Amino acid sequence: MVNPTKSDITEKIVSLSKRRGFIFQSSEIYGGLNGCYDYGPLGVELLRNIKEAWWKEMTYREDIEGIDASILMHPRVWEASGHVEHFTDPMVDCKECKARFREDQVEDSECGNKAYKGRKASKCMAEGKFTAARSFNLMFKTHIGPLEESSAMVFLRPETAQGIYVNFNNVKDSSRQRLPFGIAQIGKAFRNEINTKNFLFRTREFEQMEMQYFINPAEDQKYFEYWREERFNWFVKYGMQPERLKLHVHEKLAHYARAAVDIEYEFPFGWGEIEGIHNRTDFDLKRHTEFSGKKIEYFDDQSKERFTPFVIETSAGASRSFFAFLCNAYGEEEVTKQNDDGTTSSELRTVLRFHPALAPIKVAVFPLVNRDGMQDIAHNINDHLRTKFKSFYDDSGAVGRRYRRQDECGTPLCLTVDSETIYDNTVTVRERDSMKQERIHKDNLLEFIRAKLDT
Ligand code: ATP
Repeated sequence: MVNPTKSDITEKIVSLSKRRGFIFQSSEIYGGLNGCYDYGPLGVELLRNIKEAWWKEMTYREDIEGIDASILMHPRVWEASGHVEHFTDPMVDCKECKARFREDQVEDSECGNKAYKGRKASKCMAEGKFTAARSFNLMFKTHIGPLEESSAMVFLRPETAQGIYVNFNNVKDSSRQRLPFGIAQIGKAFRNEINTKNFLFRTREFEQMEMQYFINPAEDQKYFEYWREERFNWFVKYGMQPERLKLHVHEKLAHYARAAVDIEYEFPFGWGEIEGIHNRTDFDLKRHTEFSGKKIEYFDDQSKERFTPFVIETSAGASRSFFAFLCNAYGEEEVTKQNDDGTTSSELRTVLRFHPALAPIKVAVFPLVNRDGMQDIAHNINDHLRTKFKSFYDDSGAVGRRYRRQDECGTPLCLTVDSETIYDNTVTVRERDSMKQERIHKDNLLEFIRAKLDT
């Protein structure tokens, strides 16, 4: 196994992402738009698979319902939630080079002047080059209707959670759920981050996967611990190496929270939060009751008590998890290559070891050579498999090269039609991770692949 340096890995992942069609810079032909990215043909599959794995885990159970709330909401929502007042970051500017920083991130940043490459921004700050900190609200504003007057101003939501709280009564009444129960949502969120960096880690437009679990306040510790375990285990279940995950308990809590823990992943640039689990108490439901004048409460038939439920929130970034799954899958290793003259040599293979459920393409189908009807057989197999899995046909270049191309996009299985297929209807199935090959009868392929992919 080859161990590229950590800073190398980020660069390699960014370049592989573009080359193979995972991630493109937004509006690239116009020079790009900072902090915004587009998902390419493979990226969109991976992202959908991550969201699907989360959705199944979180909503295919009796006590959780899903919703999809609108991105634009009544502006009072954000007053009630505290975002208008508190969702700010302290911003400082360098008077000399004009670079802008989030004050609490100056320590980790470099001076913006290219002539001082490698110089710490904290040094410039200590030398008095920075302005005083100013508060900057991270919510994007826009207007409803043709007049840009403040009464018609709305925000692009900075989190999906509020769409869940304001629908608590609707979901409770329509689904007839009893406590404890949760509401889950996947959707876009927008934050006008002062600095975007580290590729997909901090972007201005991103997707969240959030679930708010409504409980009796007496049970808050129990469910906080339950969801902390569940969510940590979900990342492990989908292939994250446990030693690259850790829990970070918050000492300093937000004004509404009673407990908070982050699940952090060890990215090539260091540890970073991928999901937060928070005990948000009854803060949000009470604030919406106060601001809307509509009661958001729960009546317990057994104890005959009426109360405002507490909320345990699990808040994951779909895009940030995408980046973490990509880093986690990335590997390079020396492998032995069969040369055309019968000799062997070693070569470096790049492989994305995605969990099969997350892999963008599940199976690739190749004819060994483009003659003797092998292409037709391979096309037929691919047409059949394509109705069940995302599959891919490739007949260009040496078969070894085709394997490498599939390794690089994380395809778990490659099937090769060769001269034996013509006689006995078997094909070679090659596994991505072990690179082991075995022969399987054409008629048994579907069952075989299903078992291997565990789908
Ligand atoms: P940070 O401190 O990194 O700004 P946060 O603590 O404000 O993040 P939360 O509000 O808890 O983040 O958001 C929940 C999840 O949403 C995070 O764990 C992360 O996965 C994702 N997320 C938040 N901000 C961004 C962003 N700018 N880009 C991509 N994902 C984000």
